[in-house]
Amino acid sequence: MGVMSALAACTTAPARQATPPGSATPTPTLTPTSTPTPTPTPVVALPARIALPGGTLTGLPGEGNLLALTVDDGADSEVVAGYAEFMQRTGFRATFFLNGIYDSWTEQAGVLRPLVESGVAQLANHTFSHPDLTELTDSEVVEELQSNENFIRTTYGVSGAPYFRPPFGYHDDRVDAAAASVGYTQPVLWYGSLSDSGLITADQLRGFADQYLLAQHIVIGHANFPPVLECLDYIQQLVVSRALRTVTLDDVFEVENRPQRP
Ligand SMILES: [Zn+2]
Repeated sequence: MGVMSALAACTTAPARQATPPGSATPTPTLTPTSTPTPTPTPVVALPARIALPGGTLTGLPGEGNLLALTVDDGADSEVVAGYAEFMQRTGFRATFFLNGIYDSWTEQAGVLRPLVESGVAQLANHTFSHPDLTELTDSEVVEELQSNENFIRTTYGVSGAPYFRPPFGYHDDRVDAAAASVGYTQPVLWYGSLSDSGLITADQLRGFADQYLLAQHIVIGHANFPPVLECLDYIQQLVVSRALRTVTLDDVFEVENRPQRP
């Protein structure tokens, strides 16, 4: 019934164009004199966006087949580039919770920017330098989020608000209030981790993917170590075989009073 209602919602949703992976149509052979006719991109509407439920987000509300992979940090520029290449190639949608302190986000801005502009990738705030926010003063919390917001705006022309992920998942009411004072009203944690913030093997990572890449999950991964690059096509196969649909947070949630794009 959940699937039915999710599908029913499509009929009232504004059509948002998405190209599912594997939807490319072979180009027909053309005679030299014929004019190529553009193949229309299939329009597959997502369920209507829903209001943020409030509190800390750890999963996607309701029933459905959506999967929100979130990719944090960005300590390895080649891994960021690999994610971008994968997303460009497959249409896999994901949200990056980036730390501006890592050069990756500047070095790979050229390949990421088109993905951000098309909505395949979303950028959100993981603080500038990845501190434990509960150990900082209110003004230091604000500075961490604001300097990262400024970095995202300057480099990509978008805001990361209202979504922030506290490093290590450490936050409390005081941290949340300080974050909210600069527009970061939505803490985002996760339900399931690829457990690759540190170095693990590709086999281990595929095991965590098997375990957690499930419907309506927000899953955390990291762009920190190369083994994940060996797993991305496996992850894509899992998504297809489990009939999941990858989404960014913006695909799912309607944000009111969002800061205007600069
Ligand atoms: Zn992190």
